[in-house]
Amino acid sequence: MSSHSWHPEFVRALKKICGERSVLTDPTALLAYENDALSFHRSRPDCVVIPNNYEQLKQVVQLCKGQDFPFTLRGAGTSLSGGPVAVAGGLVIHVSKLRNILEVNVEDQYCVVEPGVVLNRLNQHLSQFGLFYPPDPSSSGTCTIGGNVAENSGGLRCFRYGVTANYVLGLEMILPTGEVVQFGGPARLRLAQFDDRFRRHLGRDRQSVAAPQTLAGENLDLSRDLRQYARCHAHHC
Ligand SMILES: Cc1cc2nc3c(=O)[nH]c(=O)nc-3n(C[C@H](O)[C@H](O)[C@H](O)COP(=O)(O)OP(=O)(O)OC[C@H]3O[C@@H](n4cnc5c(N)ncnc54)[C@H](O)[C@@H]3O)c2cc1C
Repeated sequence: MSSHSWHPEFVRALKKICGERSVLTDPTALLAYENDALSFHRSRPDCVVIPNNYEQLKQVVQLCKGQDFPFTLRGAGTSLSGGPVAVAGGLVIHVSKLRNILEVNVEDQYCVVEPGVVLNRLNQHLSQFGLFYPPDPSSSGTCTIGGNVAENSGGLRCFRYGVTANYVLGLEMILPTGEVVQFGGPARLRLAQFDDRFRRHLGRDRQSVAAPQTLAGENLDLSRDLRQYARCHAHHC
């Protein structure tokens, strides 16, 4: 047990939010959370909570803030950085149950997902629309989008398509203070919304700029084009 104040009321409050079975305190159950895939640094948390939905996650973070209790987020625990390990004890919040794919917008080519969505599952889902999500760490059968974002993961496809940072259009975040903030949001990628300056700068014809990333055939690297777009605007400001 770690040195910070830890009391049963906290566990009771967690159980009230997420339910009895979603809160782990048994040392045997906690064993599974004491390291990530690196296994180099081990540190057992005092407690693990597995929220069933976003609302519960928010309440857990707010509870930690209220009690000044340290917490660490965990996706699939495949990282090689020690990121999901509670080095000083405290609470591990395991987001594996936040795995809903909330929206796939085929026209504007973005999707909205919860952080616990497993990468391969997302691609499986997207394939029915003829789309794919390019960043491909080799842990894709297990790792989650939340972990990918935190680690800026990439795989072999990054040579052509870039890494996770090139594909995150927006984030909704619960800050350690419990406050919810939004960064960015879906970009409307349809040609109609690209301004003339962008088209002149890219020197592309209308057709290629509008071409979607499809599973078959030549793909247009939209992220590269958007980076160029950002640079183009920076030059003109
Ligand atoms: C066999 C294997 C192959 C791998 N191949 C690659 C590869 O090719 N390329 C590559 O880049 N990496 C690779 N990795 C590393 C790892 O899979 C990636 O870093 C992956 O993105 C981690 O995702 P995860 O869901 O397991 O995150 P976790 O390991 O659970 O967490 C990673 C970090 O993200 C944070 N985090 C997780 N979820 C959230 C959330 N919802 N909100 C805020 N923070 C969160 C955690 O606190 C932690 O700091 C590999 C690992 C293994 C074991």
